[in-house]
Amino acid sequence: MSFCVHGIPVSRGVAFGRAVLIASSRVDVAHYFIEADQINAEISRVRHARNEVMAEISRVQQQLQELPGREAHVELAALLDVHLMMLQDEQMADGVKYWIVERHYNAEWALTSHLEVVARQFDEMEDPYLRERKADLEQVVERLLRVMRGVASPVAHPPSPTRKEQFEWAGDESIEVPLILVAHDLSPADMLQFKQSVFAGFVTDVGGKTSHTAIVARSMDIPAVVGARAASTIIQQDDWIVIDGNEGVVIVDPSPIILAEYAHEQRQLEVERSRLHRLRNTPAVTLDGQAIELHVNIEQASDCAAALKVGAMGVGLFRSEFLFMGRKGQLPNEEEQYRAYCAAVTGMQGLPVTIRTIDVGADKPLNRNARHADDHLNPALGLRAIRWSLAEPAMFLTQLRAILRASAHGPVRLLIPMLTHVREIRQTLALIDKAKGQLNAKGQEYGQVAVGAMIEVPAAALMVDVFLRYFDFLSVGTNDLIQYTLAIDRVDESVAHLYDPMHPAVLELMARTIAAGHAHGKSVSVCGELAGDVSMTRLLLGLGLRSFSMHPSHLLTVKQQILRADTCKLKVLAQQTLASEDPVPLR
Ligand code: PEP
Ligand code: MG
Repeated sequence: MSFCVHGIPVSRGVAFGRAVLIASSRVDVAHYFIEADQINAEISRVRHARNEVMAEISRVQQQLQELPGREAHVELAALLDVHLMMLQDEQMADGVKYWIVERHYNAEWALTSHLEVVARQFDEMEDPYLRERKADLEQVVERLLRVMRGVASPVAHPPSPTRKEQFEWAGDESIEVPLILVAHDLSPADMLQFKQSVFAGFVTDVGGKTSHTAIVARSMDIPAVVGARAASTIIQQDDWIVIDGNEGVVIVDPSPIILAEYAHEQRQLEVERSRLHRLRNTPAVTLDGQAIELHVNIEQASDCAAALKVGAMGVGLFRSEFLFMGRKGQLPNEEEQYRAYCAAVTGMQGLPVTIRTIDVGADKPLNRNARHADDHLNPALGLRAIRWSLAEPAMFLTQLRAILRASAHGPVRLLIPMLTHVREIRQTLALIDKAKGQLNAKGQEYGQVAVGAMIEVPAAALMVDVFLRYFDFLSVGTNDLIQYTLAIDRVDESVAHLYDPMHPAVLELMARTIAAGHAHGKSVSVCGELAGDVSMTRLLLGLGLRSFSMHPSHLLTVKQQILRADTCKLKVLAQQTLASEDPVPLR
């Protein structure tokens, strides 16, 4: 039966395929397709892991028998019996085999897919004792995965993101079937891990439009819906789903008519994309001759290829924190960072790269699950971004040295997130000087590096003239500026409807920052998600903005709007908008 789940659209486009449900704790399990001749090898890996774990459990049982005071261990012995029974269960073995044989999943993926199916069955059981056995099953799977990790797959990860399957509505033909990931929650680091993966779309239960998970999904330029509440409990493993990233709708078990409609829409989007591509080398100049700078936001050096493909003028925001996340406390050292920054600098082939210093905290924890540890606090107002860097000066100096050294290979600009106090500005600039001093002492080279501040906190926007005394340029982080001005957590889907870029207070702070930049003759850019929102382009131009930074996938759409704009007319309209109680975007 067909039904819809509604969420928040975060990344444009349409995708349809099979749902792959993944528990948040298991996103680091490898997901790839195997070839038909590799099926037996993958089944053997599961069998080998099963035998190993059974032997391990039997050994522990034996040791328990030999321990004095055996009665004290009856509970543990009973638990191990349950684990053994589960491992011997033929249904479990067949279930895992199904995913390997029928779907060509690698062994680990097959195992976790089966776990998701059985976990549902446990959740639905009435008997609380039986329901609790789900935890045992999870432990068994965890043990199996551990053994498998030690026995690498003989199978190379095939590059194909889809595999052929036969479908009723496609007649006798086999069609390429993409996969769509459905999860309760995904951290931004998990999301990044999926950048080179097999998935053609994402659905998560939680998250807001400008949560970092949504931002990474957008940078992948594949359809995504977040904040879909119960999606991961309603959608079943292997269900056929359509995800409409334009409207934020997920259709489960769609009818052939709906599929045909979406297939049509997908083709239209493709046509539109190739049409836009022709604008790649056209200068972004308005009808009245204003040249506009269009930069990109990246998370990794490898994103530079996409930036060049759309004809970006440089990188306006390199979110360096993605280098640091999901590393279990092992932060990258100076050399590793230096190599990553150099890769971006050389990747941009002489165009400027703006590297933002680490912005961890809030919805970007250094370690997966860390955010659950401080659930009772309000991490968005906590030790985040520059606050964290100033609290960890040795780490910060390491990053500053690495960035400065990369500037010897091409134009680099340094960008500091979330500054609020003048004393933070002074401390930061003093540390930059100190890092330069350390490099001088070692005779290590660095270039001229402009230093800029992000305007993300209302306090910063209100004292923008002071900021401009200290910095060479500014970049408005509208995602945070809106979050902090309107007091709504950008990650929390329950207040997503209050996230309003058109709120008069937000517009006032943006207008003020842009005007101050002009008055001081310094560049002001917007690098929040608004910069890539084509419905905001005309208003931003009217407010005087001349530099935008956004995901590569949005750049050409925004450029098209710029080519049709007349800033003299938009300036008048923007002033009227600023004076309105209920401002609306400029059409
Ligand atoms: C912003 O806040 O607008 C911004 C660009 O930074 P981030 O989204 O990484 O917090
Ligand atoms: Mg920010």
